[in-house]
Amino acid sequence: MNPRLGPGTRLVVATHNAGKLAEFRDLLGPHGIDLVSAAELGLPEPAETGTLYAENAAIKARAATEATGLPAIADDSGLAIDALDGAPGLFTADWAGQPRDFAAAMARVDRELALRGVTTTGAKARFVSALALTFPDGSEQIFEGRVFGTLVWPPRGTKGFGYDPLFLPDGQALTFGEMSAMEKHGLPPEGAGLSHRARAFMALEKAVLAG
Ligand code: IMP
Repeated sequence: MNPRLGPGTRLVVATHNAGKLAEFRDLLGPHGIDLVSAAELGLPEPAETGTLYAENAAIKARAATEATGLPAIADDSGLAIDALDGAPGLFTADWAGQPRDFAAAMARVDRELALRGVTTTGAKARFVSALALTFPDGSEQIFEGRVFGTLVWPPRGTKGFGYDPLFLPDGQALTFGEMSAMEKHGLPPEGAGLSHRARAFMALEKAVLAG
């Protein structure tokens, strides 16, 4: 497959989430891609009516491409907790309510686990990210990444965003909330490509950026 993105390409990042936007800037910035976010363009957020992360990512990216005539990238992601049968999953953002309150969302995780007699610290979980890249010619590509870990209670760290302070990736001493951006989602050779989004991004990079 030929690279479809290169230096100077104007690409819409179809998100209104400042934390995700910052990660996309870190990941795509070094490739010289000219990023503009859906929030900066005042684009509405489409309803996420899919039943898979990949479907929701494609809905968001496609809506941005259709509104602007530009290629777009979107991520749909979530936290799946084994003892909660994969919840919050597709509803990870919803658990934070409106306006978003992630301290409340993390407290809900702790509560729901307690209701099932499960201790939060040590509960197995994974972050999942599906990235969709859409082009004005109608083509689209999907890339997925996941990172396995356990939860900690109380949450630790003030870096990152969302549920980061709750999540301890396997084999690490720090939660995502305690890691620097480079530690969480930095790519090799400087970083370890640890986060779900970084892993999905590495697949994208190989398919449409490298070469
Ligand atoms: P989305 O915008 O529907 O993809 O919502 C994903 C939800 O998962 C949001 O509530 C995010 O805060 C949360 N989330 C996704 N990725 C991460 C991450 O890297 N760290 C912490 N929370 C995340």
